[in-house]
Amino acid sequence: MSPVADRIPSDDRLPEAVDVVVIGGGIVGSAAAYYLAKRGLSVALLEKGYVGCEQSSRNWGWCRQQNRDPREMPLSVLAMNLWDQLAAEIGRDLGFRRSGLVYTTDDPAVLAGWESWLPVAREFGVNTRMLNAAEATDRIPATRRTWIGGIHSIDDGKAEPALAAPGLAFGARQHGATIHQGCAARRLETSNGRIVGVHTEQGYIRTDAVLCAAGAWASRFLRPHGVSFPQAAVRQTALRTKPTVNVGEVLYSSDFAMTRRLDGSYTLAISGRATLELTPQGIRYAREFMPQFIQRLKAVQMGVGASFFSGPESLSALLTDNDRLFEQNRVLDPKPSAKMVRNIMANVTAAFPQLAGLEIDHAWGAFVDCTPDAVPVISATGTIDGVFLAAGCSGHGFGVGPGIGYLAAQLITGDTPSVDPTHFKLARLTDGSKVKVGSL
Ligand SMILES: Cc1cc2nc3c(=O)[nH]c(=O)nc-3n(C[C@H](O)[C@H](O)[C@H](O)COP(=O)(O)OP(=O)(O)OC[C@H]3O[C@@H](n4cnc5c(N)ncnc54)[C@H](O)[C@@H]3O)c2cc1C
Repeated sequence: MSPVADRIPSDDRLPEAVDVVVIGGGIVGSAAAYYLAKRGLSVALLEKGYVGCEQSSRNWGWCRQQNRDPREMPLSVLAMNLWDQLAAEIGRDLGFRRSGLVYTTDDPAVLAGWESWLPVAREFGVNTRMLNAAEATDRIPATRRTWIGGIHSIDDGKAEPALAAPGLAFGARQHGATIHQGCAARRLETSNGRIVGVHTEQGYIRTDAVLCAAGAWASRFLRPHGVSFPQAAVRQTALRTKPTVNVGEVLYSSDFAMTRRLDGSYTLAISGRATLELTPQGIRYAREFMPQFIQRLKAVQMGVGASFFSGPESLSALLTDNDRLFEQNRVLDPKPSAKMVRNIMANVTAAFPQLAGLEIDHAWGAFVDCTPDAVPVISATGTIDGVFLAAGCSGHGFGVGPGIGYLAAQLITGDTPSVDPTHFKLARLTDGSKVKVGSL
């Protein structure tokens, strides 16, 4: 099973009752559990596999404001400030470093796209500057590639995907939360339109509030309860090398993306290459996703794969109310694309001759859960009182994850939100509003 997040122990006994049950131990659920517990609420964090086992340990680790949709900017600024404080608050290194991000390209249209984002940078005070061809090469002295230009996002950075969600869950426990791994939430119990408890594979918990932070499983989990959440997953491939020489911290170019990890290894991938597997859930929400699909036609390959038959979007997931589905799929662990792995290695070693002979430690596949407008949902469901949803991070939820958890915690407690939650409402995806597709 790959890749592996840092393991934290589970609590032995499920509490009988808590203020909030958080479903899903990715970065979003772990951050929400942390901020709720820190605020003094009793919290049980339920994870069907182990904390961080799905998207939150399979990503590149980028924590960026650069090139974000303006709707997400306040949340992203908040998240970067939270990252700055987390290691000291929790007493664990989550790998967060403001290392800067360097983007380079050979494509004038891409460069123009980055330039057109500069007014957003100015509005939100993001420290970023365009690079001409010589400056782009200067920022990456180890390469023999040249580019027509780029952009340097100076205050953005990275964190360690293997450490972040487990670290936040550990932090939640320091404030009294309990962590239950290998413990799927099966279904909600409601009374007169209000949440009263959660049935799990380890027993029943009474509660007045639930946060569904179930990543790619969120739509399927909520559907039997009458909540419609248009969600679709795309499959991606990435790999981790063995520790090697330092050729740069965080680099994006048209044919590879690389992030140096704490142990001197690299996470490598190719940006914007994903496979959209045709699934029964995908067909159900095809109308909602059509604008995004048309916009990203060139970057997405279509196909029928294993997810038609197993997982959150499969035929059986759509047609049956099987509430054991979640524990029957402990960890979504799709196969990496062997062709993609070969291309990544070829492109990276062509750009950095000193990496010839670079060894792969392991490669993995992952499903990225998306919304039709590529903006997350952080919202009351509106269907069941006391049930909230935070999911649909659309491929960029790791860096903003602490912000999502923080905002979700504020919505649950009724505190004044630190950022305007309007753009994150679930209703925007179901009330017939025109979909405005954001940046991935
Ligand atoms: C290859 C790749 C690269 C990426 N790169 C970046 C990046 O550089 N920067 C960035 O910001 N984002 C990046 N992302 C996106 C980022 O990883 C996700 O947006 C983010 O991790 C989503 O977090 P999450 O907590 O919502 O979901 P997840 O991490 O998927 O967590 C959801 C959890 O819920 C659990 N669960 C589901 N159902 C149940 C149930 N019924 N009961 C109990 N538990 C349940 C699952 O097991 C899972 O652990 C990348 C993603 C991928 C795949």
